[in-house]
Amino acid sequence: MKGKSDAFKILIACLLSLRTKDETTEKVCIKLFAIADSPEKIVKLSIKKLEKLIFSSGHYKKKAKILKHVSKILIKKFNSKVPNDKEKLLSIKGIGPKTANIVLAFAYGKDVLPIDTHCHRIPNRLGWIKTKTPEQTEKELEKILPKKYWNKFNGTFVLFGKKICQPISPWCSKCPVAKHCPKTGVNKNR
Ligand code: SF4
Repeated sequence: MKGKSDAFKILIACLLSLRTKDETTEKVCIKLFAIADSPEKIVKLSIKKLEKLIFSSGHYKKKAKILKHVSKILIKKFNSKVPNDKEKLLSIKGIGPKTANIVLAFAYGKDVLPIDTHCHRIPNRLGWIKTKTPEQTEKELEKILPKKYWNKFNGTFVLFGKKICQPISPWCSKCPVAKHCPKTGVNKNR
């Protein structure tokens, strides 16, 4: 998905995906966007109706409040458009660095590093960096990773983190880069 018309959907999908499986987010988005695919339409929905639509994404009460708030601010401050500027995105309560970077990378094609749990964990295991938070990881990776790899980084590491370098007990026996990996912080593997 690329292009400004998708920016709102990408933003909302990202906000709904927090602590939820991708498959669930996808189903919830299809249901929600069939009824409300713009800030105005989200604002017009009653909170009860919105909660019902996004119920299966988990933390639905909190997420419904965030969706309402973000939509209101987009209308009020940004002419109903999702800004393509990190500072402006971060100025909206409910949007954190990962969400902002996902919007910038996938809606606007900018060279940024969206850091989720996989993108934080794996470079640390590989010994590329030694960081405690995704924010630190973003900063450190910006220093060592050539820019030409940035827009592929998130997709590649998310997939690798789901299939091979899983959070608990990674598949080191199947890992194509095992001989280059110090397995930092890995206590148990397969
Ligand atoms: S060797 Fe193990 S810890 Fe290192 S990247 Fe591969 S799966 Fe992850």
